[in-house]
Amino acid sequence: MASRLNFQIEAEAVGSRARAARFRTLHNEVLTPLFMPVGTQATVKAQLPQSLEDSGSQILLANTYHLLLRPGPDVFRRMGGIHEFMSWKRSVLTDSGGFQVFSLQNSRAMTEDGAVFKSYIDGRTIMLSPEVSIETQVAIGSDIMMALDQCVASTADEATARAAVELTQRWALRSLAARGDSPQSMFGIVQGALYPKLREQSAAGLREMPFDGFAIGGLAVGEGRQEREDTCGFTTDLLPRDKPRYLMGVGTPLDILEAVHRGVDMFDCIIPTQVAQRGGAFTSRGYLQLRRGVYSCSEEKLDPACFCPTCARYSRAYLHHLTKTRETLGWQLIGQHNIHFYHQLMREIRQSILEKRFLDLYREKRVLLHEDDLDNPVQLSKPKKAKLFALGDYEIHLATQGFSSIRHRPSGEIMHSRTPPMEEATRLYVEQSNLARHLRNADPADTENTSPLVVWDVGLGAAANAMAAIRCFEDTAAEGPVRPMHIVSFENDLNSLQLAFSHNERFPYLRHSAPYGILHGGRWHSRTHTGLSWELIQGDFLETMIQVPRPPDLIFYDPFSGKTNVSAWTIDAFRRLLSVCGERSVELFTYSASTAVRVALLAAGFIVAKGRASGEKLETTIALSPVAFKNKSLTRDLLAADWLEKWSRSQAKFPAGMIAGEYPAFEKTIRECSQFQG
Ligand SMILES: [Zn+2]
Repeated sequence: MASRLNFQIEAEAVGSRARAARFRTLHNEVLTPLFMPVGTQATVKAQLPQSLEDSGSQILLANTYHLLLRPGPDVFRRMGGIHEFMSWKRSVLTDSGGFQVFSLQNSRAMTEDGAVFKSYIDGRTIMLSPEVSIETQVAIGSDIMMALDQCVASTADEATARAAVELTQRWALRSLAARGDSPQSMFGIVQGALYPKLREQSAAGLREMPFDGFAIGGLAVGEGRQEREDTCGFTTDLLPRDKPRYLMGVGTPLDILEAVHRGVDMFDCIIPTQVAQRGGAFTSRGYLQLRRGVYSCSEEKLDPACFCPTCARYSRAYLHHLTKTRETLGWQLIGQHNIHFYHQLMREIRQSILEKRFLDLYREKRVLLHEDDLDNPVQLSKPKKAKLFALGDYEIHLATQGFSSIRHRPSGEIMHSRTPPMEEATRLYVEQSNLARHLRNADPADTENTSPLVVWDVGLGAAANAMAAIRCFEDTAAEGPVRPMHIVSFENDLNSLQLAFSHNERFPYLRHSAPYGILHGGRWHSRTHTGLSWELIQGDFLETMIQVPRPPDLIFYDPFSGKTNVSAWTIDAFRRLLSVCGERSVELFTYSASTAVRVALLAAGFIVAKGRASGEKLETTIALSPVAFKNKSLTRDLLAADWLEKWSRSQAKFPAGMIAGEYPAFEKTIRECSQFQG
């Protein structure tokens, strides 16, 4: 038999590995990406099958291990399978039981033949072999069966993980043989913990076998989020394009979004019903904990954007009450909403892939799905908690508008205090520098169009500017061919990035492989875009800039202000910078519009223009190298005679660090700058 599922890809996203597909099981047509509610004991906890149907559940997951113990395969054989048994008309996927058996740390023994364990119901000794697992799954009558695998902790050592990969391989062959000519589909499970070589070995072996789809196993069992996402993305690349891919046991709506982006089609997780039991609800306004007193008199519906039966009829106040009194109905109603929320998210994701706008949706949802209740934020003012939000000289600052930024404790300076970091970075640096246009336009001198646009990011901070540039590149590349881009970030203290990165639920723009690469190896190359790279130069900028082999085309100049960091704003600093630029057309963008900074730039030889407003600043500053000044395509609002007049009357006439009497003819020098002539 060729393919039991007739898997058809309908669309693949641009700039992402997300895809939309459909396949046909023994019971219904299935549209992907999809979420499968978990019905461990042939029931999704506290949910009626008809309400699951109504909310759009296409496949339910049932656990072979539990159903093997009770009611046992004989009951399924006599009742005509799980569909008849639980009155469920759509598809069922059964796991192999491997995961549950291997979670029984102390009450099992492993052999080549299978795993021997004692029943938690009656103490009987049971052998779970590939043959027993498949025989049970055949009796249950699921549409999709899983081959028996050996699951090890994702933190397992390499020898243990390799042994599990090899055993899983042998069991995969035995599982396929045990299926015989049953029309049920079967998936193989890729293991290999966090070792890329082992994942490769596992996938290569399974790909040769006639499976109808592939699962990624051994994740969500002890690893960190970044490791999970990296391993997931790496593993989907190893799997055939024309078969469904299933990430087992994952996860939150955000985890699912990230995995879809990395090429996964199918998911299961107990989270929507599990958190519902304790009053947790996913909504379009963030994650709500209904035990909180703020909802005790709330007449609002649970989620203003939801059309589920719970939201249609009940108030937050009532759901709060049911949760506080631990009434089963609260669990049922919130669970119904959560499952609806998951399915709705999957439908939106699918639609966006079909309409070629997945990346936009991904970015928007990635921020939103991080949020706790947006309208009734939880106060994080307890001093004990505040301690965790600090590292070295830095701490996380929560703006009253609800976004987070980083504060330098010795000076009290806040990076991006009035505007969310990415918004300010985009407005001030990415948009003003016309970065997208630079990327689309090849360098006229470079006929091969291969020399990268070099962006210097001075003052990495929490990487908002660099990430804004990376996002701009990814967006522009999604639209058409682009010039390569290389970012060089300068920073002497990585604590601010480290701090923000370890709280990336508050800094969603850092949910990306790039900052991970910078923090762990000082460099990053995009796997999606070969022309995109980023490196970190650590140390004092004034010393390190002359060692950088690639001079800049654009400079995002964002060190701490002159109050904290005098040396970054002196004539000497800008002279060195201009000498590095040499005969290149370079533009520098900075948040400062202070007279002292502008005059230092002028004295160093830059041409100085006004930049757009940002946050509470009415103006910022743009500086051009003399070559850039001659470039007619750059039309900037240059400082002119009126500025010069204001300056000559100014109290802060001289640049930072200038020693009185150092430049006797300083005023004359400034007045004679070329931009004030003619
Ligand atoms: Zn709802």
